[in-house]
Amino acid sequence: MNLIAAVDALLPQTQCRRCGYDGCLPYAEALVTHQASTALCPPGGEATRQRLVQLLKRDDEAELLTPEPSRIAEIRESDCIGCRQCLDVCPVDAIIGAAGRMHTIYNAWCTGCELCVPVCPTDCITLPLRSDAAPSADDNRARHARRAARLDGRHELRRAPALVEVGSPAEDLRAAVLAAVTRKRGGA
Ligand code: SF4
Ligand code: SF4
Ligand code: SF4
Repeated sequence: MNLIAAVDALLPQTQCRRCGYDGCLPYAEALVTHQASTALCPPGGEATRQRLVQLLKRDDEAELLTPEPSRIAEIRESDCIGCRQCLDVCPVDAIIGAAGRMHTIYNAWCTGCELCVPVCPTDCITLPLRSDAAPSADDNRARHARRAARLDGRHELRRAPALVEVGSPAEDLRAAVLAAVTRKRGGA
């Protein structure tokens, strides 16, 4: 494993861009090639910063990063107008929906990156604290890579099969969609 990959392996892979880079891998590249600060990843918190300092053999001069609670996106479905804005920015394909249709979050894949919140024109996405286990960094990385490949046009994968293939039983996805449709029909 080269150094950039080793650094990337220490990052939480929420792909939130709060470090100022386009995702975890670009930040890893900047840490190795441009001596970027090790204190730019709030989701990783202090534990990640200290691992970076150790791996990169940096002087440990940065401020301590305060730990953050894990969050998850939630769509108030009654206010969703199906504009797709959130779906288009989600870095791990954790949003299910189609133009003009209600959207919903596939909880097991949401990294809590917050990128969907500011783009929603009806302010119907919130970020409550997460009560279940967050997806693993390895799964986040794989989903982000698959999305990037799809957007690059390198893979001719249709959305639904891609969602099913990456580390999640098809039944879970089907259940998430059915639950959302049921809630909508019930007016909840
Ligand atoms: S988790 Fe967010 S802040 Fe941390 S490296 Fe990845 S994109 Fe940057
Ligand atoms: S649903 Fe929203 S918060 Fe969750 S991963 Fe996608 S963009 Fe990020
Ligand atoms: S951005 Fe908001 S209104 Fe548009 S599809 Fe997503 S949740 Fe619905």
